[in-house]
Amino acid sequence: MANPNFSIEFFPPKTAEGAEKLRVTRAKLSELHPKYFSVTFGAGGSTQRGTLDTVVEILAAGEDSAPHLSCVGGTRESIRAILAEFKSHNIKRIVALRGDLPSGYGAAGEFRYANELVEFIRQETGEWFHIEVAAYPEVHPQAKSPQDDLLAFERKVKAGANAAITQYFYNADAYFQFVDQTRKLGIDVPIVAGIMPITNYTQLMRFSDMCGAEIPRWVRLKLASFGDDSASIKAFGLDVVTALCERLLAGGAPGLHFYSMNQVAPTTALWQRLV
Ligand code: FAD
Repeated sequence: MANPNFSIEFFPPKTAEGAEKLRVTRAKLSELHPKYFSVTFGAGGSTQRGTLDTVVEILAAGEDSAPHLSCVGGTRESIRAILAEFKSHNIKRIVALRGDLPSGYGAAGEFRYANELVEFIRQETGEWFHIEVAAYPEVHPQAKSPQDDLLAFERKVKAGANAAITQYFYNADAYFQFVDQTRKLGIDVPIVAGIMPITNYTQLMRFSDMCGAEIPRWVRLKLASFGDDSASIKAFGLDVVTALCERLLAGGAPGLHFYSMNQVAPTTALWQRLV
């Protein structure tokens, strides 16, 4: 199979030890030659420094890297300052998001939705950044309806996004349906599939409840049946996610974005099965 366009996501480390571990992880994952590494951004700017430091370090190692930028809780002035800092480090890619404020955080800030952030980035910096936005084949949990969510996605693209990365999912039909609907609206940006390796049952269930990803019943029951047998969970998870990736690529997905959870093994194992 030809090398598809694929990228790998990290979250910024919180400690010096975590930073050192991520350095090793990144060096190993670089051997897979991803197109770029993206680094998440805590809503309300909670990881702002860590996100920037991690991206700058990856760029200095000769790899391309994109900070995520979430606008919730931000002001025009604070986002303008962040964009200027990104530019000063010659960062050319951004994953632009609304984000979710932790409960009790207080004011929501001057941006309500991600399309407003994309519009602001274009106003302030023209075509400097390649902008990716989020897409939700299984519908964002706060959307009023699937149609509203699709129109919200269209607004982000019309505001100037170059491409999209999806929330993770395990149902390929949801992805193909979503892409079809966007094409019918005349949206032609690449929609890269977000891929979450399955390595831990409890963690997967918790994340999926929060972000609205559906775990098919047969996958859930099978994972639960393995109990604490982590090797069987990983082996079964690898089979399920490999089959998903193969179907997505065969069906025309322009690339894959791996939610690595800062781990080497799950992304590497999947990738080796695919190439
Ligand atoms: P939006 O596109 O603004 O949509 C949010 C919700 O509002 C949707 O339900 C949409 O239908 C609705 N909506 C949009 N416009 C309107 C309108 N005008 N009126 C009414 N409703 C509207 N979070 C982080 O905090 N940091 C990260 O680094 C991060 N990285 C991510 C990376 C990817 C690839 C993905 C898929 C998600 C990521 N997230 C991250 C999570 C994301 O921030 C949440 O899913 C968040 O709830 C929505 O962000 P968004 O950019 O999709 O928002």
